[in-house]
Amino acid sequence: MIVRIGDIELISLSDGGGVFPFGFDGVFPDVPLAEIAPWRAVYPAAFASETHPPARYGAFALRTPSATVLVDTGFGSETGPFPPGGLLLGALASHGIMAADVDVVVFSHLHPDHVGQTFAADGEAVFEHARYAVAAADWRHFTDPTRAADFPWIAGQVAPLAARELHLLPAGAEHELVEGVVAVPAPGHTPGHTALVVRSCGAQALLLADAFFHPVQLAQPEWRNSADSDPAAASATRSALLARVLDLDVIVGACHFPEPALGRVATVAGEPRWLPLA
Ligand SMILES: [Zn+2]
Repeated sequence: MIVRIGDIELISLSDGGGVFPFGFDGVFPDVPLAEIAPWRAVYPAAFASETHPPARYGAFALRTPSATVLVDTGFGSETGPFPPGGLLLGALASHGIMAADVDVVVFSHLHPDHVGQTFAADGEAVFEHARYAVAAADWRHFTDPTRAADFPWIAGQVAPLAARELHLLPAGAEHELVEGVVAVPAPGHTPGHTALVVRSCGAQALLLADAFFHPVQLAQPEWRNSADSDPAAASATRSALLARVLDLDVIVGACHFPEPALGRVATVAGEPRWLPLA
């Protein structure tokens, strides 16, 4: 799906997915399934079954008047217990964007489902002309050699960025990557997890990346996702991001929400709800 944010085209992309291999009891370990089950009637597309969420590996492209920006590079084929990805390049091509056209790759964070097609099997950069941006805090955390065994995807998909044009974004400050595309620190899911504001001609979008894993968290921002590295920071980030979009004319994107992964957040029945774009 493409939406226009002023002069910028925001394109929602999927690298693939299927059924998430872990159930809601694993994703939200503090929340009884009985509390989650009623949400299926509200968000049917966000439930693969009574017990399991769907998996969807989202990414976004931004066509601005000055640059083509890719937000995350999908999961690719090395997905372990997760359903395969690998559809991202085709999805980009379907919108007329070839890998060589991408000027900037910005990573929301360095989990494997967001960096999986940065380098090809032969070690060549997939986006050969791009410069790259990632939060310094994520770079430090995930490329720490003492943690290499915990993050096996880093050696092939992330570490070689050190030899390329790499912009490490400082913590605690927003940073305009290209005109109209602003990186916003949103820590908690990972130490340097980054949201993106897109703004042009008075219109605005906010890409939440993985700050919210599932739409139920909009009404329950305190629900801990087991993949959040700092649950308290993640919860505070969710509340802060929610305040920037709730009942406002802001298009919202979230990597793991169901297709089209773009919508608005508005108060319905007294609580924040996800209203996907049709
Ligand atoms: Zn993710």
